[in-house]
Amino acid sequence: MLVQVDMLVQVDDAASGVLPEVWSPSSLNSFLGCPLAYWWRYAQGWRGVPTAAMEAGTLVHDVLERLLELEPDERTRERARDLYAEEAAALADRLDPRIDRDDLRARAGAALANYFDQEQPELVDVVPEGLERKVSATLDGVPIAGLVDRLEFATAGARVLDYKTGGAKPRYAGDYWRQVLLYARMLGEQGTDVAEVALMYLGSPARTLVRPTPPQALDRVQGDLVRAQGERLQAHDASVWPARPGPLCQYCPYRSACPAVDERARPTPGTEPSHRLLEASPDVMRRVASTPVDDEDVPLADLDEGAP
Ligand code: SF4
Repeated sequence: MLVQVDMLVQVDDAASGVLPEVWSPSSLNSFLGCPLAYWWRYAQGWRGVPTAAMEAGTLVHDVLERLLELEPDERTRERARDLYAEEAAALADRLDPRIDRDDLRARAGAALANYFDQEQPELVDVVPEGLERKVSATLDGVPIAGLVDRLEFATAGARVLDYKTGGAKPRYAGDYWRQVLLYARMLGEQGTDVAEVALMYLGSPARTLVRPTPPQALDRVQGDLVRAQGERLQAHDASVWPARPGPLCQYCPYRSACPAVDERARPTPGTEPSHRLLEASPDVMRRVASTPVDDEDVPLADLDEGAP
């Protein structure tokens, strides 16, 4: 079993940043994956350059949302193709020029084909207002919000379903299940009991996995949130953030400035020399103000969807 060893990284006190008040499942997964990467992204506002895989994911989500908004007998492959053409044209206007458009098209086309191989959209029974449903709750005093891809009626009761445009890879499953279980817990707090959560993988291998929502599972993910809140506060107060080096470092946009992945001396994160390293990196696009919650966030685990 791989044992992860944290490295404690002192960041610049003066640049400690403002922590988002509200968590999202993605930001929680980011924190649990590597608190230092979380700090760079959420407290400092550095963002990775979007990839073809990420943009394909957004495109496919938008097409499927619009497809399932239609009456059941209108949810055909032909309509999906039309919606794809519309969404792709809108996306083209704002696409970062560094993104490989052929790669994006290939990924989105394959994901939509995999979608139709997995279900008949005319049979999906969406709960009213169940598409891109905003959810929020305060769990044990910790605020969290998110955006559910799909809330539907299933045989067992209400089901939360999340699309993953990558393939079903076991190493990310824990993060993904935590995400949908947190949605279930939030919906439960809002008065909607969720019987099942599901992940529909549209990459390769494509499959849909479903699991029930026993109270222990919901309590466990709520516990993850509460623990992260405490650890985050401690890290922020001390300006010392654990770095968690591992296989995902190779896809991390902050690796060029990260003291945990290179034996050469790295400047203290948050200082001007550290900023310059990030600014020089082709993987970091811009620096934006810290945001409270961003449901378009891509967890670190998703960043390697573009990897071979
Ligand atoms: S390179 Fe690795 S250790 Fe450093 S911030 Fe990124 S994920 Fe964390």
